[in-house]
Amino acid sequence: MTTRTLRYLSRTPISELKSVPARKVSDLRALGIATVLDLLTYYPRRYADRTREAEIAALVEGEEAAVTAEVVSSSSRRLRGGRSSAEIVLDDGTGSLTCVFFNQAWRARQFRPGERVTAFGKVSTYRAKRQMANPLVDLVGDQTGRIVPIYPQSGKSRVNSVDLARYVAEALERAGELAEPVPDHYLRDLGLIGRTAAYRNIHSPETMADTDRARLRLAFDELLRLQLLLVRRKRVLAASSVGVVHDTSPGRLVADFVRRLPFELTAAQRRAIREVACDLARPHPMSRLLQGDVGAGKTVVAAAALLYCVQGGHQGALMVPTEVLAEQHYLSLRRLLEGLMVPDTGRLAGERPLEFELLTSRVPPAERARVLASLASGQLDIIVGTQALLTGDVRFSSLGAVVVDEQHRFGVEQRAALAEKGLATRARAEPDLLVMTATPIPRTAAMTVYGDLDHTTLDELPPGRTAIATKLVSWSQQAAVWKRVTAELDAGHQAYVVCPLVGGGATEEEGWEEEPDIPAGRDEMDGTDLQANAGGRFAMDTTTARPPPRAAADERDRLAASDLAGYRVGLLHGQLTPRDKESAMGAFRAGEIQVLVATSVVEVGVDVANATVMVIEDADRFGIAQLHQLRGRVGRSAAKSYCFLLADPVTEISAGRLEALVKTESGFELAEIDLALRGGGTVLGSRQKGRTDLKLASLGRHRALVTRAREVATDVVDRDPELDSPLHKLLWDEVEVFVSEEERQFLFRS
Ligand code: ADP
Ligand code: MG
Repeated sequence: MTTRTLRYLSRTPISELKSVPARKVSDLRALGIATVLDLLTYYPRRYADRTREAEIAALVEGEEAAVTAEVVSSSSRRLRGGRSSAEIVLDDGTGSLTCVFFNQAWRARQFRPGERVTAFGKVSTYRAKRQMANPLVDLVGDQTGRIVPIYPQSGKSRVNSVDLARYVAEALERAGELAEPVPDHYLRDLGLIGRTAAYRNIHSPETMADTDRARLRLAFDELLRLQLLLVRRKRVLAASSVGVVHDTSPGRLVADFVRRLPFELTAAQRRAIREVACDLARPHPMSRLLQGDVGAGKTVVAAAALLYCVQGGHQGALMVPTEVLAEQHYLSLRRLLEGLMVPDTGRLAGERPLEFELLTSRVPPAERARVLASLASGQLDIIVGTQALLTGDVRFSSLGAVVVDEQHRFGVEQRAALAEKGLATRARAEPDLLVMTATPIPRTAAMTVYGDLDHTTLDELPPGRTAIATKLVSWSQQAAVWKRVTAELDAGHQAYVVCPLVGGGATEEEGWEEEPDIPAGRDEMDGTDLQANAGGRFAMDTTTARPPPRAAADERDRLAASDLAGYRVGLLHGQLTPRDKESAMGAFRAGEIQVLVATSVVEVGVDVANATVMVIEDADRFGIAQLHQLRGRVGRSAAKSYCFLLADPVTEISAGRLEALVKTESGFELAEIDLALRGGGTVLGSRQKGRTDLKLASLGRHRALVTRAREVATDVVDRDPELDSPLHKLLWDEVEVFVSEEERQFLFRS
């Protein structure tokens, strides 16, 4: 019997299916479905389990239930305040049920009387009638299966679940037996079902247990493809690229630097610096990830890496995600590097001062020209900036090493640009790369997101840090918070107040990440989320509007005039001029300002040990990583420190984030919780685009599977580095089917 490969399915247009009418082709395309492979990988977002359905007459108020019934009527109407509601009345022969939707007027047009639908939601009674508010409703038509797949977007798109199920059935029928790319013994070891069964069971299962097994298998396939790519890329890079052999001999620049530090290095820092030095001395370029919690002291390791590079006559660059952060890093590095002398045999004195500059778009043109010229001539040793350093008119004389701070932002394209930069300079090599992440990301995520990097962890904090008492406080209780703040100020300490906005509605430039903490639509959620939300503590009522977030500029004025009247209250945000920013930070450092009201710009770089309180307003607007970073600004002395999260979270996810912060101070634990709350898809986000995206696999839920996929990928590549044996050819072919051209070009760029 012939078997079909995914490659073949990826080349078969959807129009070849008899069940797909010509007029639906463009509708399907709008859903991203152009080929039979697209169709088969358009997975149900949940299933209507008809074996567990209730009759309308038997519904119990306050409980969740699913019913299948006929649509009797539908209507919509306007409510006050520009809102609307839609109603669909269902009848299953035992009674009638009204489904009410707020602000989803299109729902009224979604179903016609006479159609059969399933509704899932919490049962309530309104004016003596049974109803469900904002339930999930889907067309089931006359499908007879006991488990009916419900596809994403099926309500809003012109292609509904019934249509899709029909197309998929034909596709599966005609595809017949699918080629199995994963060698049998791995499947047996892992207890995974075969490929054909997996595609069949995810779309038309007999039981819910079938769907679980199918998802697990297909999730494994996704992870395996990704890991094969990452493991191979790591090998190819290691074998093919030429790096700078740096001079890491002791007793020179780095030793001077360490000697002049106002503190002893921690054992973890010493180990990290040693590992970096080893990499730098090798002929292959370093690709290392430095993980370390807030305040672990990564900057010192970064500085050491750059100085090794400088002592051998090359240049180093420190790149951060935003210009605000670049300015702050520049300031804190300057404190560490000031006064260092670089060995220079060309000079009579045998040495010269270390040259160190900042380059952002805010640097005035004349200054910029000067910096660029000294970078090109080789006079400049270390430059700090954003990723703009990799593009345009920035020319290095001899680029030897690059440190990238902050996670998620250094992808494939940047790596390629970096290599090109380095090869174009006197170094004629790919610069060594150190990626630092302030959020310790869970091991499985690191294995995926940074799968082609070596790892170093700073698992030890510098001595003298104290625990921070963290409390979640409702806005209605804010007076107690300000009382605590004034008590700290009266004791001679200082405080931060952080707000999500700058003022006038502006958000901080790039600095704060918008997180989808209110589900944008139910299509984004799968069955599990649904169970958690529908009856949960947090209403899904879309009419609940959040109050607008507070702005730093307004808050400064409000606090200075009320709760903190009589204290010296300053303002810091990214839209101030660099001069104003530096003076605000300087005044706070000097104690002239007692309270710094700021945006998330204080996340990094500000280091004032006398600050013992942080109040984060509208804390539910920030992500876990950011809150953790912000909190890390206090607790830097022997005095007891406090962090108040002022918020009234409206979703379960944002409440979960804040509770996590209250519960633990460990960045590692927070990262695990964050991952579990987000599901993991977004972790991958900007690094791997397109079809490499994980549709089924979740880095949060499938930890063990990630590890197993990594092991299988490593094993396969060890046995067959080119993946060209008959056994593995198909496996690699599938990677190529799913992985973008761009990614592959990077891999095989010679
Ligand atoms: P992060 O890892 O969050 O980037 P930083 O590098 O900014 O941490 O360091 C946090 C603070 O700890 C800084 O004030 C830094 O000077 C200080 N620090 C770093 N290493 C040590 C050490 N070994 N002993 C004491 N303080 C240290
Ligand atoms: Mg840092």
